[in-house]
Amino acid sequence: MSLLVIGSVAFDAIETPFGKTDKIIGGAATYVSLSASYYKKPVNLVAVVGGDFPTSEIMMLQQHGIDTTGLQIKENEKSFFWAGKYHNDMNSRDTLVTELNVLANFDPIIPESYQDCKYLMLGNLAPKVQSTVINRLKKRPKLIVMDTMNFWMDIAYDDLIETIGMVDVLTINDEEARQLSKEYSLVKAAKKILGMGPKYLIIKKGEHGALLFNKDEVFFAPALPLEEVFDPTGAGDTFAGGFIGYIAKQDDFSFETMKSAIIYGSAMASFCVEKFGTEQITNLSKIAIDQRVKSFIDLVQFEIAI
Ligand code: AMP
Repeated sequence: MSLLVIGSVAFDAIETPFGKTDKIIGGAATYVSLSASYYKKPVNLVAVVGGDFPTSEIMMLQQHGIDTTGLQIKENEKSFFWAGKYHNDMNSRDTLVTELNVLANFDPIIPESYQDCKYLMLGNLAPKVQSTVINRLKKRPKLIVMDTMNFWMDIAYDDLIETIGMVDVLTINDEEARQLSKEYSLVKAAKKILGMGPKYLIIKKGEHGALLFNKDEVFFAPALPLEEVFDPTGAGDTFAGGFIGYIAKQDDFSFETMKSAIIYGSAMASFCVEKFGTEQITNLSKIAIDQRVKSFIDLVQFEIAI
């Protein structure tokens, strides 16, 4: 069951209370694909970078089972660049720089070999590009998951609403859910957003876990209490990669499977935040992932006689 991931592949510069990086590799599709690759190979990637993007990093993606046939390299242009700064509580951040560069005119070309796509993850990108990818697939995937952010709510609202209407699952954070729905209560926000088209909504709440809604049901997954949170960049994308990767591996997206997928996604995100950038999620073992998932199970398992 093939998995297609689109999104930014980028340079990031990150500042947290624990340190600062120069340009390191990041981008939504980088985190999503690396995370998904622990469950499903190949991960078919559609993205664009400039001539400044290191070949060694493209090879690193390939070594993780990521097919880069759909990664366009614009030799004479610069890669997307994002810089962000986290505050002391690490739950809020300021975007310092967003330089779209190659993303400004990105025309996502789908290689013929990617056309049998069953699971599509639309990582963070302009909503018009996300909908173009859906329209360019000859057959609609079985499940389309979309991630987005406040940046697109601010500058491309109409396109965003149109694209949200085309997908099955939307993942956003709590702040974005409130902005999109104009409701403070996340339950009311979920009702409104589900009314825009998606059958499922995942609201990510950072260190406070994630909520999965459909019309009739709600599921809550905690985040693992961690001793060290070094850098939350990419946690949402890493979560999405674990979520879609697990679903693609199971080839099933019942509500029960989605609940497990949220736990796997949360486990992957918990690794991501322990080191800067992609450092930790490029070096995981199956044993470490299984142990982490077990920690989630232990955290919430209890019995009450009533
Ligand atoms: P997250 O922390 O999960 O929200 O994702 C952070 C990643 O999103 C970084 O690696 C950035 O390169 C990428 N990013 C930030 N802003 C945008 C944007 N406007 N479009 C696409 N990707 C972005």
